[in-house]
Amino acid sequence: MTYRTAPRALATATAALLALGGVTACSTEDSPAGADPNRIDVVAGFYPLQFLAEQVGGDAVAVTNLARPGAEPHDLELNPGQVGQISEAELIIFLHGFQPAVDEAIDQNGGDRAFDVATVEPLLEAAAGGHTHSHGDDDHGHEDDDHGHDHDEEKKPAEEAKHAEETSDGAKDPHVWLDPTRLATIGDKLAERLGAVDPDRAGEYTRRAAALRTELEKLDTEFSEGLKTCQRREIVVSHTAFGYLAQKYQLEQIGITGLSPEDEPSPQRLAEVTEEAREHGATTIFFETLVSPKVAETIAKEVGAQTAVLDPIEGLSADNGGDYLSVMRTNLQTLRTALSCS
Ligand SMILES: [Zn+2]
Ligand SMILES: [Zn+2]
Repeated sequence: MTYRTAPRALATATAALLALGGVTACSTEDSPAGADPNRIDVVAGFYPLQFLAEQVGGDAVAVTNLARPGAEPHDLELNPGQVGQISEAELIIFLHGFQPAVDEAIDQNGGDRAFDVATVEPLLEAAAGGHTHSHGDDDHGHEDDDHGHDHDEEKKPAEEAKHAEETSDGAKDPHVWLDPTRLATIGDKLAERLGAVDPDRAGEYTRRAAALRTELEKLDTEFSEGLKTCQRREIVVSHTAFGYLAQKYQLEQIGITGLSPEDEPSPQRLAEVTEEAREHGATTIFFETLVSPKVAETIAKEVGAQTAVLDPIEGLSADNGGDYLSVMRTNLQTLRTALSCS
């Protein structure tokens, strides 16, 4: 990625100014460009969406990430300044069902300025990409094991809305950015949305999205080739974030906790995963940078495996100098080592 590096400081300064003085911005009719008349003010729910907005928007956008670097974004809470940013933004890019606080703020203040990336392509069911034993030679049974997916199919609209926070992780798997080709498609749609907000630069957005697509397809090819021939295909992961990655590259995900990293695994679940790890000869139990590795370490010790970081890229850790592409490439190397790929 060679485009857009220098303006970052300016974008950050703009975001800071917005946070301080955004409330004084005048009526939307008079000032469609918000606090910075030369840029489109974009608010992103969490890091991969920030990455996307910066890549596709380039110099033409000022992007604010609602999640703090190094903080786990699932359970993000918004301060009043951030709610103000949402109501001032010209475009809000978010993933419905991933961050309940953001969903709620957008319901109240988002208007038609919100772009829900969950609508671009149908999301996978929460269990999809999870671990099922469909191979004929594999006869140890765990039919009841739904890998964290237990959501009442029946929807009662009123209650459903009331309990949106608890069920937000329910039936659909939100971790869509871990399939680079899906992220590319979301980038194309984002270019369309930015082009609608800022028609003068529509061509620029389309070109940047195409350049990003080229990068992401290159990454996709590296994953396909890099994971083609491996001695194992099961990945034991701390939270069930890798459904899209697993589906795309024919891996089998065994999640210790559910879709949310804060879920506490039951002793029964721990026992099941330990057994699975043994049966499949897992040499590595994966944990992630933004949550405690304790549970992964417990299982690893139990089965005599190592632990390693497999990053779901929900946020960059505070000291990470990389970006989505570099962290994905690190993930690929980690997987190739752990699964003994040739
Ligand atoms: Zn997650
Ligand atoms: Zn198994």
